[in-house]
Amino acid sequence: MHRGSCLCGTVRYEVDGDLPPPYLCHCQRCRKAHGGAFAAVITVPAAAFRFVGGEEMLGDFYQAESTLHRVFCKNCGSPILSRRDTLPDLVRIRAGSLDTPYAVKPASHIFVGSKADWFDIRDTAPQYAERAS
Ligand SMILES: [Zn+2]
Ligand SMILES: [Zn+2]
Repeated sequence: MHRGSCLCGTVRYEVDGDLPPPYLCHCQRCRKAHGGAFAAVITVPAAAFRFVGGEEMLGDFYQAESTLHRVFCKNCGSPILSRRDTLPDLVRIRAGSLDTPYAVKPASHIFVGSKADWFDIRDTAPQYAERAS
């Protein structure tokens, strides 16, 4: 089992089982949402994920054109996960929120076609211009 939390510690969660390696999304929306070069995203079954604290503090940023919900802590602003209306059985945890050991290498880079000019990818994980096919 893994555990995670937001920066202020209000929002806390648990995930059952082992976690797959993250993919790194370099799209501009993720860069803005995370304030960094990319979002590190771990896809897990929704049934394996649960909040164990701070649910009343969750914000849900939703853009009607995308079906994507970006869920964050309203107190400290930390991104926690995203989920899609079209994929209700999955949640996509933000790897930076994990508190338990997670010694893996990134699985892939996506949306490399729109990555930040100021960041160079220096690992050997597969790169995709947009989504992985
Ligand atoms: Zn917080
Ligand atoms: Zn993205």
